[in-house]
Amino acid sequence: MFDKVLIANRGEIALRVLRACKELGIATVAVHSTADADAMHVRLADESVCIGPPPAAESYLNIPRLLAACEITGADAVHPGYGFLSENARFAEILEHHKITFIGPTSEHIRIMGDKIAAKATAIRLGIPVVPGSKGAVTDDGEALKIANEMGFPVLVKAASGGGGRGMKVARSIADLSLALSTARSEAKAAFGDDAVYMEKYLQKPRHIEVQVFGDGQGNAVHLGERDCSLQRRHQKVMEEAPSPALNDAQRMKIGGIVANAMRQLKYRGAGTVEFLYEDGEFYFIEMNTRLQVEHPVTEAITGLDLVLEQIRIASGAPLSVKQEDITFSGHAIECRINAETPRTFRPSPGKITYWHPPGGLGVRVDSGVYQGYKIPPYYDSLIGKLIVHGKSRNECLMRLRRCLSEFVIDGIETTIPLFNELIRHSDIVDGMYDIHWLEKFLASEPKDG
Ligand code: ADP
Repeated sequence: MFDKVLIANRGEIALRVLRACKELGIATVAVHSTADADAMHVRLADESVCIGPPPAAESYLNIPRLLAACEITGADAVHPGYGFLSENARFAEILEHHKITFIGPTSEHIRIMGDKIAAKATAIRLGIPVVPGSKGAVTDDGEALKIANEMGFPVLVKAASGGGGRGMKVARSIADLSLALSTARSEAKAAFGDDAVYMEKYLQKPRHIEVQVFGDGQGNAVHLGERDCSLQRRHQKVMEEAPSPALNDAQRMKIGGIVANAMRQLKYRGAGTVEFLYEDGEFYFIEMNTRLQVEHPVTEAITGLDLVLEQIRIASGAPLSVKQEDITFSGHAIECRINAETPRTFRPSPGKITYWHPPGGLGVRVDSGVYQGYKIPPYYDSLIGKLIVHGKSRNECLMRLRRCLSEFVIDGIETTIPLFNELIRHSDIVDGMYDIHWLEKFLASEPKDG
């Protein structure tokens, strides 16, 4: 086991990782920008190192500074959390080179899955169903038109290096296609320095269902069931639940089995999430995330497993702590992402939290790095916490959420709590009848605040 882990992240996930390390008796190193000197993960860590000014490129994304922090503190492993360098193959490679363990998969697997075209080709090879589309990158508009006509419109143009919904454009007809291709290419070039794009059939009413997997790097792998993350705005998840209200046990075990089998073939190491769109009973692979996800707590709630602890154990060379037949699913869990944003327009609302009272009680978990008096800096993601409820049934979760949202007090800034109050009372949400476009339609149908 490791002696000291450096946590290359901030906010609630830095704290989440820190807690797992503490329970394992591992010393922790926090890194932070000057804007985060007062952050909770810095206060609770055994040691902390300031790695630069507020812009992420000069701190949380700065590999030489992170390496220097490892060297100064003598950390023998790095947990990257999610976002920032968590899916940066070069970072993993450099750490490997310096004999510091990257708590995650091999740099090779990160690289394959980070290129969506390579990831899709790999998925096909491993027997995972994919969205129909172009075989690889599309460089020629004439060729693109031919493929689109064969698939039928609408089609989606996607960036090979995409992430966070950027570089993605829908073409509804022949007339839209060349503009969709050129805007997706230039957006992708600007955001990722790579203008390679590919095409997929645009699914009209899918759900986003993802499967959580763990591998030990030796050819053993298990799946921990699925999460339904269909409530999205601008391709960003807002609320997640497990299990998906759209699947029955047979479907769950079938897709889980396919994914776990693929990970065995790949000799995948660590935590991963294989994301699918699900429409009319069929699954279509869209991408694989080779890291811990924001929404991992809903899986922890229904399986009783600590995913970060498992990541750390596997990275230290231990085998998987569970076999597939040991994994059971208990009840239901729902997560609400609490963002420092105005509820309907999602405009960021940084500033000082003048009062903070999180809910508690049976089946309630709040993962957050903030506290009363904390000033949310304007430089980073607006996620300030996650409210996760667990109950015997989906209905019990919704009742619990209602209670928790009314108990939750955050003063001084605006948050997305009022939005969740509306959502959990909506009959479509109560009935579990929503797809990836539902939230955008709901937001467009009502008057906007601010
Ligand atoms: P990113 O890495 O940018 O998040 P993904 O491939 O994971 O991109 O897709 C993000 C979201 O975009 C999905 O959850 C879904 O809402 C939408 N999306 C992606 N591919 C398709 C598709 N072929 N048809 C319809 N919607 C899609």
